[in-house]
Parts: sequence; structure tokens; C-alpha cells
Amino acid sequence: MNEIYKKILAQSKSMFDELIQIRRHIHQNPELSFKEFLTAEFIRDNLRKVGIEYKTIAETGTVALIGKGEKCVALRADIDALPINEETNLEYASKNKGVMHACGHDMHSTMLLGAARILKGMESELTGTVKIIFQPGEEKLPGGASNLIEEGVLENPKVTAMFAQHIFPEEETGTISVNSCYIMASADELYWTLKGKGTHAAQPHLGNDCIMAASQLVINLQSIVTKYKNPIKPGLLSVTSIQGGSATNAFPDEVKLMGTFRANDEEWRSKMHDEIRRITNETCSLFGIKGELEIVKGYPALYNNPETTEMVNQTAKELLGQDSVKVFEPKLWAEDFAYYAQKIPSTFWFLGIRPKDIKDMPPLHNSKLIPDEKALTIGAAMLAGTAVNYINNFN
Ligand SMILES: [Zn+2]
Ligand SMILES: [Zn+2]
Repeated sequence: MNEIYKKILAQSKSMFDELIQIRRHIHQNPELSFKEFLTAEFIRDNLRKVGIEYKTIAETGTVALIGKGEKCVALRADIDALPINEETNLEYASKNKGVMHACGHDMHSTMLLGAARILKGMESELTGTVKIIFQPGEEKLPGGASNLIEEGVLENPKVTAMFAQHIFPEEETGTISVNSCYIMASADELYWTLKGKGTHAAQPHLGNDCIMAASQLVINLQSIVTKYKNPIKPGLLSVTSIQGGSATNAFPDEVKLMGTFRANDEEWRSKMHDEIRRITNETCSLFGIKGELEIVKGYPALYNNPETTEMVNQTAKELLGQDSVKVFEPKLWAEDFAYYAQKIPSTFWFLGIRPKDIKDMPPLHNSKLIPDEKALTIGAAMLAGTAVNYINNFN
């Protein structure tokens, strides 16, 4: 292992207890997307304590620069929590009822604070600039990433590569899972309202049957995935809610449906928006009713650039050992880091947080999720190591 990685690892390990304290404070005081005021204050206090200057961006976002020079790599952590009631029974469980860091953004923020400190400690050795970005609102549309980009986070100095990590309950602590391809999907929200004339259930001919139309619509929509998609490409349409009707003997005037549409190909995605509209209109006209569809466009698909990803691979192997690197199997989750990756070469990796002796971890967004805090120093070192490797060795 080269000297600089040794130094990074040693630095990171020496911060173990402090990182745990920081993480538990953030965990105990979770705040919802775009309302992370106290979290942002706490992060800024921690930056100030170690002499790192910062700027506020998009209200609850924070950006700091470490090092100097034109070459600029960015590291990003998200800071928001979810509207979930924590059920871990931990002594440092959420103090805000109904709000929980169930996606590990408390871990992400802490590890980025750790990496910032490591990099600050070796600032004179850095031959470029590292932009440290604490981003609000990952869990809620339109996504904090798009706000930050609009406010110029990728400029002054211009960011030429970007990295972020996410905790991963499926893999053991100490591992890095990564892949160079579309690793996550675009996610669009679908909202239908079917409107007809309600009638007595025994006199269907005097009105419309929106229940039957809704059922047929759910079935017809499956052709998006089975007949309109190249079968070797990923994509998904799930109807997740149908609501309408309140009696056994009456057809309602209205039925509402909700669902999600996911893809990893922008062209197919927008083409399918038209198809979903067409199928909705044609199915509804078959039943003589009106179908309204609202498509709320979510994040784009997340693409990991092959070159920056190879660099992450190298960094992880050298820093954490050959066996620590796993191939990440793409998921149809969504993540607003995709907005950065659309603009500049970027890599998003997954950090294992499953303790060795536990086989079955609750998944992300689960009220019982307890990440292994041993991952904190590993993640902090990985972020710092990746930034240093990029600045020193990547053209
Ligand atoms: Zn999440
Ligand atoms: Zn997340």
C-alpha cells in the first residue's frame, strides 16, 4: 500500500470514536427533506471546528473547498431523513417522532465530515481541489441535486469528476460494491383518475363501471414491460394503489390509481410516457369514461462512468484489500446523484454495513435498520482515498 493510503487509513481509524458521536447526534435529530436546518448547522459547526471554510447553498446545503488548483473533484453526501417511525429501540434512536435516518444519510454525512478532516490534514500535499458537498433533499422530488446544480455547485471551480457512496445492508461491513453501467433507474410517479357516471350495481347500463375499467387498465399497462420493451433491458411499471367505491350495490363516479414507472434509457422512457397515455385513453374510451393521467417525472437513471469507476475499483482494492470489492448488481432504485452523473464523469458506490454475524439485515427505508458503525472509518477513508487518487493520478 502506498504511503498516502496508509496515512489516510490511520487518520480515519484515529477518528473512530468521534465519528460515532457525530453520527449518533445526526441520527438522533433527523430532519425531513429540505428542512434540514439543524443538521446543516451541526455539519457547519463540525467544519468550523477543524478550520474548514464553507458556503451555504440552497438554504440547507453546504459546500467547502479543500486544497487548491484547477483540477477539482467533488465528494457528495446527502443529509435528509425519511418520514418513518424508528423502531430500533437504540439509546440514540430518533428524538423526532415519525422521522428517521432509515436510508443511512446520517452515515453518509458523517463519513464525508471524516473525509473532509483527513483531506484538510494533508491539504499542503494536494495538487488539486476537493469540493465537499453536503446536499439536502435526496428523498423528495425534485431532489436537492437539481437545486444545487441550478445554483452552480459544479462551477467555480469547475468539477471534473464526482463521487458519492451509499450504505448497503446486503453486503458485509468493509466491502465496496460498484459497477460501471446504469446502476439505478429513472423513476416517474403515475397518478390516474378515471371518471364516469356512477350507477346502481344492478343497472350498469345506466352509467359506467370505473372499477372494471381500472382493472382492465392495470392489465393493459403490463404490455409496456412485456411488449414495448427490449426484453434484455431493465424496466418496470407497477400499479401500487387502486381506490374507489364504497358500497356493494353501487358503481362509483371515480377511481384513482397510482404507480411507478422505471427505466434506464432516456429515449425509451419518454416514448413510454406517450404509450402509457395512449393505453390509458384507449382503455378508458372502451368503457366510455374519461381517464386523466399525471406523470410526475422523477430522477433520471444513474450511470457510473467506466473510467472513474475503474479508479474507484483500484482505490478500494489498494486501500481495503483485493477481496473487499464486489460487483454491484444494478437495481431499479432511484437516486438524485444521477443529475450530477448526467453532467460529469461520476461514480456511486455501495458501502457494506452488515455486521459479520448477522445474515439477515433489514433493508434500506426499514424502521429497524441499524447500520454497523464500524463502516464509518472505512467509508471516510474510501472517500478521501478516491479524491486523492483522482487528483494525483487521473487525467
Ligand atoms: Zn432512500
Ligand atoms: Zn439514500
